[in-house]
Amino acid sequence: MNCIQLTQARRAAADREVRQRLSASLSRHLEVSLGRLLMLLAAVVPGVAAAEFDYALRAQRVADGVYAFIGKTEDFTPANGGNIVNTGFIVAPGGVIVIDSGPSRRYGEQMRRAIAAVSERPPVLVINTHHHPDHFLGNQAFGDVPLAALPATIEGIAGEGNAFAENLFRLTGDWMKGTEVRVPQRPLAAGRTEVAGRRLRLLALDGHTGADLAIYDEASGVLFAGDLAFFQRAPTTPHADIGRWLAALDQLAAITREPGFHALVPGHGPLARDAAPLLQTRAWLTWLQGALRRAAAAGLDMNEALARPLPAEFAELPVAASEYRRSVGHLFPAVEQEVLGGGH
Ligand SMILES: [Zn+2]
Repeated sequence: MNCIQLTQARRAAADREVRQRLSASLSRHLEVSLGRLLMLLAAVVPGVAAAEFDYALRAQRVADGVYAFIGKTEDFTPANGGNIVNTGFIVAPGGVIVIDSGPSRRYGEQMRRAIAAVSERPPVLVINTHHHPDHFLGNQAFGDVPLAALPATIEGIAGEGNAFAENLFRLTGDWMKGTEVRVPQRPLAAGRTEVAGRRLRLLALDGHTGADLAIYDEASGVLFAGDLAFFQRAPTTPHADIGRWLAALDQLAAITREPGFHALVPGHGPLARDAAPLLQTRAWLTWLQGALRRAAAAGLDMNEALARPLPAEFAELPVAASEYRRSVGHLFPAVEQEVLGGGH
């Protein structure tokens, strides 16, 4: 081996070593990355690990004989399985009155078991407050119980229920397995009524959707406001008429000023002993309406309206940014038309 050959052999050996080191380092890196990826997957898809799909429903006592299941103040995700909604029940002398049934068959079944843990009386009526899927897709678990709602809600569930269910399946996954739409058969009318020996005041309102039922239990002074009230969570607006919604809030506020009023169960967010959820919902809607009108009047397009920052008072509110984005999509075209059309 001459001098040149020796140098070449040394270079080749050095190259081999570098390649081996690189390859070892790369495979270590890949192992770490794969490990991290698996950990990340387990963290973002706990539904995969929680194969039992347990909503962990615990009835929260609101008043004597009145309970609520309080959901998370989040968007729909595969982790929460759609449990972002409040439902409730009233133990009446003649049986249990169920108010909304949750986002899936599983939720309805688990809700029914959680109710049975509180009262031996059977469910005698399920009331759906409005036609949004997280409020009625648990109806299936109450197949032997009459289902009731306002006539326009019944129509909405019959017409849009399946599309809503498919969408929720996309957003939450297998939590929805086996869920089918059950359309209420019994139409409700506004006014005082007695159900299973309990006096209820039914308020047929609208604004969050085309038909929003609020239920006031006169014996306990508990107001189930449905999605007319959101608390510590930004409101959703896919079917909203803000003007009508604000008018409905006035009617609910009047009930909270009655001497017998005791508590308010919002459709989303914690329960309250005062009108705070109504005030917060009003503040958000008033700001939203004003912000959209100002954006339209300034000639902004939808993307520019979307880019507007949230005011400080709402920036920390759960899901405020995502609900604002959705609300611009739902409401801006009509606001634009109203504002620009007003100039003619
Ligand atoms: Zn709703």
